[in-house]
Amino acid sequence: MAPESIDGIEEQALKAIEGADTEEKLQDIKTEYLGRKGKITLFLRNIPSLPPEEKPVAGKKANLLKNRLEQEISDKIQAIEEAVSARPADIDVTLPGRKPKTGTLHPITKIQKEICSIFFKLGFQIAEGPEIEADWYNFEALNIPKHHPARDMQDTFYISDSVVLRTHTSPIQIRYMEKHEPPISIIAPGKVYRCDSDITHTPMFHQIEGLLVDKNISFGDLKGILESFIHNLFDKQTSLRFRPSFFPFTEPSAEVDIKCVMCRGAGCRVCSNTGWLEVLGSGMVHPAVFENVGYDTSVYSGFAFGMGVERLAMLKYGIDDLRKFYENDYRFLEQF
Ligand SMILES: [Zn+2]
Repeated sequence: MAPESIDGIEEQALKAIEGADTEEKLQDIKTEYLGRKGKITLFLRNIPSLPPEEKPVAGKKANLLKNRLEQEISDKIQAIEEAVSARPADIDVTLPGRKPKTGTLHPITKIQKEICSIFFKLGFQIAEGPEIEADWYNFEALNIPKHHPARDMQDTFYISDSVVLRTHTSPIQIRYMEKHEPPISIIAPGKVYRCDSDITHTPMFHQIEGLLVDKNISFGDLKGILESFIHNLFDKQTSLRFRPSFFPFTEPSAEVDIKCVMCRGAGCRVCSNTGWLEVLGSGMVHPAVFENVGYDTSVYSGFAFGMGVERLAMLKYGIDDLRKFYENDYRFLEQF
């Protein structure tokens, strides 16, 4: 069979394109003429066997036609798509609209706000400080000298010998006391960093620290404030227990446990069957800390406390894995 003439192919192809009314038919035409075994492809492949004087003209014509068909087919496909999307019958104006995804507060942000608002009602103001902190504020001014064994309690990210990522929000207390005279009552929320990562530890987490300094402040005031806070955050049935402990910046110091909010003290997995949960560290401010900021220890006394925000969020929202807070899974985050 003699190969078809390029003019014949052109006539056929243009007619076919004109008659095609769906995208599918146009794709078929594309294959028929421009595909690997398409008519134009075969024509081009046959050119070397033509007489030498015909070769340049035939090649040029075939290539021009190839480009023209590609253009015509893609133009027509686009026209069909536009016609389909504009067809009024396909738009159901009674359908409800699609809601855009809106953000919600992260559970950590949410509980942090709640905690701050409870203390706000108790007369505390919010104070903030830098996350990259001088060794002096993070440790020394808080009665943790260099090479003191208490430094081992906190695995620290050192930026240099004298600069660290703060390991707790306590340096904010020092910064605040340097600039203000008593009476003061502040809470300091913020991110803190420790070189630690497993199921119950992340290298970055959140703390809220509290400090109250005035004349005649006693351990009874500390107890009253913390009890009021826990009753507000959980409920009035949640009892507290103070256990003697050690922190370099408070004396005496106490860990604060609350009656397990999951089992109400009966014993469960969350409280390791003890019925109690450790939630806070606290104590009366150590005189050495007051001396470092120039407060007269014969006039003023005060208390400080600190809590892990993630820990309280886990208890409040019933979350069993700390890492869930930082996986950015919408299905998890949307629930709060
Ligand atoms: Zn329990």
